[in-house]
Amino acid sequence: MGLEEKMPPGVGLTTLEAVLGWAKARSPWPVTMGLACCAIEMMAFGALRFDASRIGMEVFRSSPRHSDLMIVSGRVSQKMAPVVRNIYDEMMEPKWVISMGACACTGGVFNNYALVQGIDHVVPVDIYLPGCPPRPEMLINAVFELRNQLMEKQPIGAHRKEMAKAAEAAALSATPIQDRKGLLA
Ligand code: SF4
Repeated sequence: MGLEEKMPPGVGLTTLEAVLGWAKARSPWPVTMGLACCAIEMMAFGALRFDASRIGMEVFRSSPRHSDLMIVSGRVSQKMAPVVRNIYDEMMEPKWVISMGACACTGGVFNNYALVQGIDHVVPVDIYLPGCPPRPEMLINAVFELRNQLMEKQPIGAHRKEMAKAAEAAALSATPIQDRKGLLA
């Protein structure tokens, strides 16, 4: 998007933001990455019965540089965490993350030293998808929720990179999921 980088932020961009948000929301390119059993459901999501192409996602890309969506599907070991972060860093901007399944969101039933207790320690998460495992229909719904987010709040213009950095810093400094007590506090 060369043009948007050169345009100053302002009232005139409002319509352009909406058009670009609409385009981005309808053509996410997921990176090929599966970590555990949730990845089987993610594969079903891309295969014939559920067919991710129907909702504009087309094929999973084999290079992070072709991708703008990471679906963290399964538990993340401490050894794998730097690899996940590396893949995230290599993806093109702007980019988004869906945390798929209880293990990716919170460590799930694996409350031990070997697994990352929530992928939000490693990359900023846009959508948390619960379940063990979540069904492919739930992943489709998560993609629709992500679409809604993209339509609402994706900035463009000269300050886009700064805003993206600020959003990532806020996400990484937020209270990890497993520390949130909700009504149990
Ligand atoms: S949430 Fe359940 S299905 Fe998904 S990786 Fe963890 S144990 Fe496997």
